[in-house]
Amino acid sequence: MVDRMHVSERPRKRLFIALLSVSLLVMAFLAWAVWRVSYLGLREISSYLPLVLGILFAGVFLAIGIGIAGIVGAILGLPFLSMFQRRTYALINLLFPIAIMLGKIFGFNRRKIERSFIEVSNQIIHQQHIKVPADRLLVVTPHCLQLATCPHKITRDPMANCQRCGGCDIGALTALAEEMGFHFFVVTGGTLARQTVKKIRPKAVLAIACERDLTSGIQDVYPLPAVGVLNIRPNGPCYNTHVDIDLVRQEIQKLLLDKEEK
Ligand code: SF4
Repeated sequence: MVDRMHVSERPRKRLFIALLSVSLLVMAFLAWAVWRVSYLGLREISSYLPLVLGILFAGVFLAIGIGIAGIVGAILGLPFLSMFQRRTYALINLLFPIAIMLGKIFGFNRRKIERSFIEVSNQIIHQQHIKVPADRLLVVTPHCLQLATCPHKITRDPMANCQRCGGCDIGALTALAEEMGFHFFVVTGGTLARQTVKKIRPKAVLAIACERDLTSGIQDVYPLPAVGVLNIRPNGPCYNTHVDIDLVRQEIQKLLLDKEEK
């Protein structure tokens, strides 16, 4: 089936936020149930124990609640307290599997939730004003971006091997890498992507891929900040895919230090 995902379809951040909030409520209910079941046993050990455990649970959920409020604040463009920024990024990565599980129960399309997660994650990263020198930025893209009939072997070294014939977007990306100075690699899967991150040791990553690969990639490289750009799939998944080069350029510019800041 032809995948008609197009860049103009903006994923909704509020879907992920709603699922995060429900995840928090579910976890709070489970914690309350654990506390209630263990209440009598704990009181037998010490009369203070139920209170101590109750305060501990309440503290954890209050912190997570503040984190979610921070994410909502960030999305609404409200000032985002710097002390919560790192915690918030950690939080969305931590609660993501629960949000996906709940989304399934409520009948939401997994891809939609993943798109929403990527949007939220990107916004949190930009809100932290993470800026890195070009030589510490790694841009990775999947192999399916290369024209299927291209005879040139571009994995591992697209800069040397792509002939920039204009047949696919790899040529434009190599030209962008040359112009801006970031590392650019084409990978055939998660293992090679992880090896490339290990080898380059970047301070930030920009990944181009589908929803599934971006969400797993962002979580794989955490705590390294990773911005995701969705690919465009006019020919169905994993075949002669494209990317919006202007969007890639904009996202890279947001991550790079100005020349005078270096
Ligand atoms: S731009 Fe590069 S990778 Fe794409 S078809 Fe041409 S030579 Fe092959």
